[in-house]
Amino acid sequence: MQTDILRKQIKELRNSLDKNAVIKYSKIITDKILALKEIENLNTFMIYKSFKNEVSTENLINLLLSLNKTVCYPATKGENMVAGLPLSNEFTISKLGVEEPKNYKTIDLIDCVIVPLIACDKNKNRIGFGKGYYDRFLKNRNTLKIGVCYDFQVVDEITPNEWDVPLDLIITEKQIIGD
Ligand code: ADP
Ligand code: MG
Repeated sequence: MQTDILRKQIKELRNSLDKNAVIKYSKIITDKILALKEIENLNTFMIYKSFKNEVSTENLINLLLSLNKTVCYPATKGENMVAGLPLSNEFTISKLGVEEPKNYKTIDLIDCVIVPLIACDKNKNRIGFGKGYYDRFLKNRNTLKIGVCYDFQVVDEITPNEWDVPLDLIITEKQIIGD
């Protein structure tokens, strides 16, 4: 299937999820991430601020902060993205329509990135929002890349482009896709 058609179909399915399902599945996914042995010794996380019916990251962020982990957020800088450690509680809406810190310090070394996605497959290939921000950000970066999505976003097979960066782990409410 063409990528843009697949993106549209999955976005429609996700938009049709009811709020209770979003809350329920997001809680299961959050608990699974926190229970991963892979993150035990990691300290610095970059986590997207969820919007609409995306897997909610709100609890994950708060729980990691309460464990004294460092949490930064993706911030757009032209065509690129950086990991921004907020210097205040103020967030603004980026040109991608998501919240990013208004004032931040750029962090270069990130132990783990929680990666949003539209679709993925069992080989951990990812289809994002179609602008390539995460592919550019993750290229040549040594970090644990955890994709999070609902189980219906896992599709049969994605043929990656040469610039696509695969994930290390994918967590849904039903499964963990690892090695
Ligand atoms: P997404 O991963 O968001 O679904 P794509 O993989 O289709 O989107 O990438 C969107 C665009 O971003 C591509 O047309 C590609 O040219 C550009 N892009 C992605 N990664 C890189 C990169 N590492 N260097 C240069 N351009 C890139
Ligand atoms: Mg891509």
